[in-house]
Amino acid sequence: MRSISVFGATGSIGEQTFDLVMRAGGPQAYRTVALTAGRNIARLAEMARALRAEIAVCADEADLPALRAALAGSTVEAAAGAGAIADAADRPANWVMSAIVGAAGLVPGLRALRHGSTLALANKESLVTAGPLLMATAASHGARILPVDSEHSAIFQALNAEDIASVERIILTASGGALRDWPMEALAAATVKEALAHPNWAMGQRITIDSASMFNKALEVIETREFFGVEPDQIEVILHPESLIHSMVGFRDGAIMAHMGAPDMRHSIGYALNWPLRAELPVARLDLAQVATLTFRAPDLSRYPALRLCRDVMAVRGLSGAAFNAAKEIALDHFLAGGIGFMDMAGVVEGTLDDLCGQLSLGNALPTLEDVVHTDHLARIRADENAHRIGRNR
Ligand code: NAD
Ligand code: MG
Repeated sequence: MRSISVFGATGSIGEQTFDLVMRAGGPQAYRTVALTAGRNIARLAEMARALRAEIAVCADEADLPALRAALAGSTVEAAAGAGAIADAADRPANWVMSAIVGAAGLVPGLRALRHGSTLALANKESLVTAGPLLMATAASHGARILPVDSEHSAIFQALNAEDIASVERIILTASGGALRDWPMEALAAATVKEALAHPNWAMGQRITIDSASMFNKALEVIETREFFGVEPDQIEVILHPESLIHSMVGFRDGAIMAHMGAPDMRHSIGYALNWPLRAELPVARLDLAQVATLTFRAPDLSRYPALRLCRDVMAVRGLSGAAFNAAKEIALDHFLAGGIGFMDMAGVVEGTLDDLCGQLSLGNALPTLEDVVHTDHLARIRADENAHRIGRNR
């Protein structure tokens, strides 16, 4: 029986992973090693009981008594804290879902790779902050990373194990998020609620806002570069409001392979769970006559400064991805808290990258985990200062 662990089990990706695992037979089909969560203790305990997990871990040590109480009478062990989450990744499992949101997902993923686990990677921040380190760790431990982000799963499937040298370009599709049809002048005043109204995908709160600002797509461009090893100028972004083509690969002979399907993350989660086989999945089937038309348009970079910033990050590489992601996380916190406007997020990130350029050697060729953690820390401090300054001047 295959063993699995799910990091970030109570989130949007975690819940959909749980759904697929339960549909496949739950504890009859998989031996569950570890489930982890942030603060939703009741749901974590419920999942751990249903899957008869070895251990359930929550992020905050203050929640440990509540987790213990919720697991009373079961065989599931309880633990808490960031260290305990990372330690849970040292418990060997064949397949590990990395679905914590943000830079906090990096260390558990690295630790799982060191045990040779197959890492189903939803946490794109791992590749953005430490792509070379993550890929090198996988290679040196004979571990495989399978993409879960829908675009990267689509690219992986469209590539179909063909030689990457025959790839001319990768075309990432983007829905454009909740505000894509807003007039440019109105964007500065967009509220959190408005930015959360995603037209096609139901996702966690943070990635939904990142979709509206295209910071999500910016992270995905970097993720593409790091995961597939292509050059930045081979990666294109196209707006595709229907979200039915999940991305495309253009080969040197002019052929384009596109991956289509309903916008449902259970496809790419299920693909990673069953790889190299394909299993029946509970996703809607496309009725192409009903769809009738697919539309595309070039993204306007003045609307989406994040798409410009990711090019700067890729030019420097090294630690700039860690700085970019951390600054973006802080900018998003400030937007969610009402401190800065929607369009200010890019200003916070750009200002932070500029500040850190003078302070750190961001172009470091193969950063260590310590370098990444240090850069992440400094970038958060700077971004916080920048966000406060921008907020005061509004
Ligand atoms: P989410 O916010 O719904 O869930 C995140 C999970 O991580 C939850 O279980 C939460 O409790 C946990 N968590 C949050 N902060 C934590 C911390 N500091 N330490 C430990 N655990 C913590 O997020 P999501 O939408 O499921 O996204 C998860 C990851 O997958 C992100 O990296 C996101 O970019 C990526 N992703 C998500 C989708 C989607 O459809 N939701 C699509 C593509 C990629
Ligand atoms: Mg995506």
